[in-house]
Amino acid sequence: MIPYRTQNLPATPTGIAQAADLLRQGLLVAFPTETVYGLGGDARNGQAVAAIYAAKGRPSFNPLIAHVASAEAAQRFVEWTDEAERLARAFWPGPLSLVLPLRAGHGVSSLVTAGLDTLAVRVPAHPAARALLEAVDGPVAAPSANPSGRISPTTADHVRAGLDGRISAILDDGPCGVGLESTIVGLTGQPALLRPGGVALDRIEAVLGKKLHHHSAGDPLTAPGQLQSHYAPDAPLRLNAAAPEGDEILLGFGPVECDMNLSRDGNLSEAAANLFACLHRLDQTARPIAVSPIPDHGLGAAINDRLRRAAAPRDT
Ligand code: AMP
Ligand code: MG
Repeated sequence: MIPYRTQNLPATPTGIAQAADLLRQGLLVAFPTETVYGLGGDARNGQAVAAIYAAKGRPSFNPLIAHVASAEAAQRFVEWTDEAERLARAFWPGPLSLVLPLRAGHGVSSLVTAGLDTLAVRVPAHPAARALLEAVDGPVAAPSANPSGRISPTTADHVRAGLDGRISAILDDGPCGVGLESTIVGLTGQPALLRPGGVALDRIEAVLGKKLHHHSAGDPLTAPGQLQSHYAPDAPLRLNAAAPEGDEILLGFGPVECDMNLSRDGNLSEAAANLFACLHRLDQTARPIAVSPIPDHGLGAAINDRLRRAAAPRDT
């Protein structure tokens, strides 16, 4: 990874404008929200989103929340519904994320959605975050700004302690509030609680005038990490393939003879950025898929994790 000199930017108009410029260039900027500091990257730029995973050292690809400046901005990327409108009016800006179907022409990298056809969107309430998002004028993907497996950061110092030299800048606006993550509500069918968080369930139910679907206590699906939906191709997938066999179509990595290549240069960021789009395209061929070996270091670990899940036997 290229070492950065991680700048500290004050949350002044100049600092915010500089942070927005860095994001538009595809670089990473940590910024405060009312929950925790987020590690922001341009959600339309696959390489920027891959860089988020690399900087965090995340061993798997989970869908990320796209942060936007307003409900109007959110509607450029997702299919808006009546229920979305009511929840947005009641709780935005604030710690509520809404999962909605992606809209045609959305332009969001499939690494943000982990290949799903839905997107989680949120308008954060923190003034510096809102000013930054307005200046960027685009969706910013932002998981918490800590190395994977470490505690979420609530100050710029926490961010620096974990990510110094791995990101371009930290927009510093002092400590953030609670550190409780956003509540995530799915609105792709019956409204469902996907993750409890900063906005209480009963307040959401009061606004919708109905109960949210959710898994009852003790249900194994409530365990963190298991609520995530994942895109899996229909076709069988064979990993660590030296060459295709039979009718297989080869998804290559590096300088190999193949039908489609994640990265001819063997660049793991590029491969991560291409991963879900390649799987979708290969799936449309209805042929079994073979995948070249991917080195298991850096982003390769996350790519391999995702491929292993896609290759695992399924119930349906
Ligand atoms: P974090 O960025 O750590 O706050 O976590 C984001 C969470 O949002 C992930 O754990 C996902 O489970 C959830 N999420 C994001 N996008 C989607 C989506 N399209 N469908 C379902 N869950 C999502
Ligand atoms: Mg986190």
